Amino acid sequence: MPTASEIEKNTSVQHFYDTAPRIIPRSDHPISRKNIDREALKVLYRLRDAGHVAFLVGGGVRDLYLGKTPKDFDISTDARPGQLRKLFKNSRLIGRRFRLVQVFFRGGKIIEVSTFRKRSEFDEGNGDGTDKVLAANNTFGSPVEDAFRRDLTINSLFYEIQNFTIIDYTGGVEDLDKGIIRIIGNPERRITRDPVRMMRVIRHAARNNFAIEDNTWRAIREHREKLRLCPVSRIRDEFTKDLRGGASKSWAKLAIDSGLLVVVFPFYENHLTEDVSSSTTRKLLLDLLAVADRIHKHGIKIPEDILLALFLLPWIEAEMHLIDADLKSSEAYRYSREIREKMNRNLEHLSIKRGLKESISTLTANLSLFRQFSKSKKWPKWLRRKSYYNSCMLFFRMYRESQGGHRVDLSTIASIAADTAAKHVKPGRKRKNRRGYGGGGPAFTSKNRNGIFGLKKRPGKRK
Ligand code: ATP
Ligand code: MG
Repeated sequence: MPTASEIEKNTSVQHFYDTAPRIIPRSDHPISRKNIDREALKVLYRLRDAGHVAFLVGGGVRDLYLGKTPKDFDISTDARPGQLRKLFKNSRLIGRRFRLVQVFFRGGKIIEVSTFRKRSEFDEGNGDGTDKVLAANNTFGSPVEDAFRRDLTINSLFYEIQNFTIIDYTGGVEDLDKGIIRIIGNPERRITRDPVRMMRVIRHAARNNFAIEDNTWRAIREHREKLRLCPVSRIRDEFTKDLRGGASKSWAKLAIDSGLLVVVFPFYENHLTEDVSSSTTRKLLLDLLAVADRIHKHGIKIPEDILLALFLLPWIEAEMHLIDADLKSSEAYRYSREIREKMNRNLEHLSIKRGLKESISTLTANLSLFRQFSKSKKWPKWLRRKSYYNSCMLFFRMYRESQGGHRVDLSTIASIAADTAAKHVKPGRKRKNRRGYGGGGPAFTSKNRNGIFGLKKRPGKRK
């Protein structure tokens, strides 16, 4: 049993080890086994038959409770990594500091199994996976500790397959019922330990249309600047999830109102402060992201240059006022260089690849031309021959949709997206999704080769 001071250090929740969980019987909750991945169930049964305690955990339980289809099914158990490796021949150990076992199934599916832990890796060390491997006795914990080391109450639920109950140590079920996002423990301390949790709060609030609990919100407002201390790679991963998650408009509202957006993207500072709720920049951003959400909800992945251009256009427009200027083609070229230089100056901290910046500047600088040609419905041959014609056309159509124009045809987007993806895949190397859910899996850039900012994939990311 951990001491009170250890627990306080880890989670800021004193005496939680006395906490009896709330057990929600099968008759009182909506989670049905038939919605749980077959392979995840196999892993749970195998662990049980070997005498271990094993639960479905985290986002999977949350999403099942809400009637959504989980992106992945994670399992936590009292079995140690070595025991897991013996139990599951078709598995491997991953992660440096916090070791996880990935169990492989046919078709490339992977179920991740972790041993109950005392603390999140982000409650200690650099949080960027570069720290030393921790001694086992410093890592493993009990179910109650594993629940309290998690970020949000709604992400801390366990589902077990003996009696099909939900085990709730933190009040997550009540928060799910009421639609509340609440950081577990003392929000100030949990945020200070890992500022990325602020981004996770607004993500889950936006995604589920939940309210953010007062103390959690106040702590975010107060500690938002701390996000700057986090490695850009983590911020990038979280930001990408948000842009691609289908609720980016609601996310942007919360990111602006909490001040987090300006912390990550300071160049928006003069244009997007929270008190200018009616600003044209804010409106343009929200309108553009609404289009991205519509498309992502259909399972189509918007190419990263177009997605990032949608996010940056309101800033570029606020500074340069190009869209409605009747630019000539030579001017568009000149402005594209200017935009690139602007990005170089203002986005340096985000390490965006040069090619991506070039692409974004082409998309945004040509918007004015495409708007003009679309009015006259005449598309000059020289423009149609350009390599960037299709992307610019798609970008223009998305912009037009955001302004109340025609909806962009989904098949056009899908074909351009497929085209772009094909260009990025190098021949001879087949990529495997870490989770093994194939191309339809989550659009997390940590699993993409280059990430949304065209950054190199960073070494292991574990929770
Ligand atoms: P998604 O549907 O986006 O995958 P998720 O909640 O499953 O949502 P993951 O990033 O897959 O998000 O994380 C899995 C679980 O790990 C979370 O549900 C939460 O319990 C825990 N977790 C993730 N990030 C943190 C963090 N920074 N601090 C503490 N716990 C975390
Ligand atoms: Mg998940």
